[in-house]
Amino acid sequence: MLLSCWVVVSLLTGLCFPASAQSPPSTEPQVDLKLAADYLQRYYNLHKEPAVRLKRSSPPFTYNLKDMQMFFGLRATGELDSDTLEVMKSPRCGVPDVEEYSHIQRTRWNKNVITYSIGRYTRDLPRRTVDLLVESAFRVWAGASSLTFVRSPTRNADIMVEFVTNEHGDFYPFDGPRGTLAHAFGPGSGIGGDTHFDDDERWTAGETGFNLFVVAAHEFGHALGLKHSRNPESLMYPTYKSSHRAYLLSREDVANINALYSPVRSHPDYFLRRGWSSRFNPWVSRSLFPQPMRDKCQPDLTFDAVSILGDATLFFRKKHLWIKHKNQEGFQEGPIVNFMPKIKTSIDAAFWVPHRSRAYLIHKSMFWTVRGSLKRGRHRALCHFGFPAGVQDVDAAVHVVETGRTLFFMHDVYWSYNENRRVMDLGYPKNISDDFPGIDAAINAALHRDGFIYFFVGLHVYKYDYAQKHVVGVEKANSWLGC
Ligand code: ZN
Ligand code: ZN
Repeated sequence: MLLSCWVVVSLLTGLCFPASAQSPPSTEPQVDLKLAADYLQRYYNLHKEPAVRLKRSSPPFTYNLKDMQMFFGLRATGELDSDTLEVMKSPRCGVPDVEEYSHIQRTRWNKNVITYSIGRYTRDLPRRTVDLLVESAFRVWAGASSLTFVRSPTRNADIMVEFVTNEHGDFYPFDGPRGTLAHAFGPGSGIGGDTHFDDDERWTAGETGFNLFVVAAHEFGHALGLKHSRNPESLMYPTYKSSHRAYLLSREDVANINALYSPVRSHPDYFLRRGWSSRFNPWVSRSLFPQPMRDKCQPDLTFDAVSILGDATLFFRKKHLWIKHKNQEGFQEGPIVNFMPKIKTSIDAAFWVPHRSRAYLIHKSMFWTVRGSLKRGRHRALCHFGFPAGVQDVDAAVHVVETGRTLFFMHDVYWSYNENRRVMDLGYPKNISDDFPGIDAAINAALHRDGFIYFFVGLHVYKYDYAQKHVVGVEKANSWLGC
């Protein structure tokens, strides 16, 4: 029985985040001892012993406790001191920190295109939000490696993502609210790669509860074959962190994923972006490879970002840019880099703040300010705007002159930024569908003009009356290019 458990354990490279950080310090030594023994059994390979024999001085206990203390950079005394107990009570990943028991060498997928599928969902978040957060979590690793993640329409996928509770058929029952948050199995057939989230936790897209994006990104590291890191800066550190840098991976994380899989190649950019919109997902539409920029009047043209810049309107699509000047016939067009030599990427979102005569062009977690000339501008981190941890990019942004606010749209929520005070408004993010009735799909781009907001959603543009809160017109996106 024990042996069969170890086999499962050795596959299990990613049990994550038990949470009991807030529990008050125990005054009962036997309670702490039980907690410590449970912890060491779970993560440090301490063999289970009958409770009556549980002693803090037993050699295996002391030995495993020292291991744990060394892992977390504590004084390796083998004594159950308060610092040690504090770490033990911290939310953390459920995957063991030591692997000595494992006879299986480090595992990896023997391929670079890995499929995933989401089975049971949580009710804490809309399904679409779960889809987006899961995909964003895969993108963390895709962006740092040669790996590509493809969502499978069937349950026949390498990595099955499930929200489950308690006993769920894999020897690793969850434990109700807090405690273990999630776990994942290392690469392999069958249960290998599968990632389970404890649905007794409160999953969120923000900083309350547990941030699904951060936990999923950590778990997927295990599903790809990564172990825990001792470096608190690393995503693969075992304890849950409620706030994270905009860029989740440490240099160590990047080095480790590239040691397992071949080094970074240059990605066709759209594998990394927009993939969550199945309608425009290249894998779904079966056009697997980027096509050269076709005629701007192609019927399926969508934009990544649209913005005013002075008297011009800019339309971004992948690394391509169209510029329409007011009172001029026709368009200038070409690679973005031809107009803005510093910008060698695509643009996700863009907005224009007229009173500063400045446009802001956002790519993932960075943005450029462009003032006057198209050729100047420096780049800064998106977190400058005060986004919560985990927000690594935005879909669209628009500045509304009447309110002095810039609205940032991400998945199905949005933030409001006060440009005058230069702070995020309180109470955000809010649901787009609550505040913009009629806009019920992901927003690719947004533009404010003549008192209206124009939302570019897929192939269409919705003209939105912000004061009346309703859609007052719809047209094809490429009609803006004169098609
Ligand atoms: Zn973990
Ligand atoms: Zn499980």
